[in-house]
Amino acid sequence: MGGVSSSLDQLPLRDDLRGLKPYGAPQAPLPVALNVNENTHPVPQEVADDILDAVAQALRDVNRYPDREFTDLRESFADYLGHGLTRDEIWAANGSNEVLQHVLQAFAGPGRTAFGFSPTYSMYPLLARATGATWVAGERARDFVVDAESAASQVADASPDVVFLCAPNNPTGTPMGLDVIEAVYDATDGVVVVDEAYFEFAPRDERSALTLLPGRERLIVSRTMSKAFAFAGARVGYLAADASVIDALRLVRLPYHLSALTQAAAVAALRHAPTMLHMVDEIIAQRDRISATLDALGYDPHESWTNFVLFGNVDDPARTWQDLYDRGVLIRDVGIPRHLRVSAGTEAETTAFLDALASIDSKA
Ligand SMILES: *Cc1c(COP(=O)(O)O)cnc(C)c1O
Repeated sequence: MGGVSSSLDQLPLRDDLRGLKPYGAPQAPLPVALNVNENTHPVPQEVADDILDAVAQALRDVNRYPDREFTDLRESFADYLGHGLTRDEIWAANGSNEVLQHVLQAFAGPGRTAFGFSPTYSMYPLLARATGATWVAGERARDFVVDAESAASQVADASPDVVFLCAPNNPTGTPMGLDVIEAVYDATDGVVVVDEAYFEFAPRDERSALTLLPGRERLIVSRTMSKAFAFAGARVGYLAADASVIDALRLVRLPYHLSALTQAAAVAALRHAPTMLHMVDEIIAQRDRISATLDALGYDPHESWTNFVLFGNVDDPARTWQDLYDRGVLIRDVGIPRHLRVSAGTEAETTAFLDALASIDSKA
């Protein structure tokens, strides 16, 4: 072998994986990183202390396999979500990416199709293809909105096995009404996944798709601790669905997929949900400041119910991205012509981004 690495072409790789690119948002050590929608506020010290105690406790039994059913954690998520949910209706995994992978393994896979309204979360097609499923992209209107009628007719035409509704949508920030979710559900016999990764950043009086669960056994609502909970590094995502869906996911998960340390850390963090979510209002304030300032600078920010802003009217996104990079600010070129996406940071980070952008002339 002699340490000479060969190219993928020379390996007996699955034919359907040939030519694919892995997920690869740049991880560059820049002073201001606003590119992957992380919560830029660290976990408060008193919560970190409590998590550390819980992990230390779990370490004493780490010679044993963890609770395969992660019972305490499912109970904690049911409590956090409310809506009368019980732990039988909860699933969790190492990030909602793994949760979504479980859904695809159980309900998509070879010979089946998964569907989403493009542009949407870049991991859906990658996860779908990795399970052997075919990805089908639907369309949004010019402002990235999909209305109920168009959504239902596109889904009925595609007749997919799994539909992803990212609500609000990444990378555009666009809200999606519950009427759209209901119409899509009625237009398909497949599984409908509503990805509420950013739900906590939506206006407070908005209803979650969780309210649609009763009587809809093919509906799944997924959430993550990565964004609002400032827990991206711990890798914890979860979903709520009919108990029969949870039984289906048990068929595909690896045994003991959630480590004892992960379970302990997440349960401890959920005990402090109000503190963990304390920064959400501050992030929303920074998001709104970004939108207002971008507007004043002559860019075209899209409505956002998330912790990031997609903005248009950028003459050359690749060049602006590089100019910001050279000023120590990392944002995201999501591949939408004349657009860039930025996550809301702390007040100082947000100021650094806005000042850097103001010093660059990149409007179209
Ligand atoms: C960030 C994000 C997730 C969360 O992924 P994790 O694996 O939980 O970190 C899920 N869905 C969308 C749309 C996201 O933007």
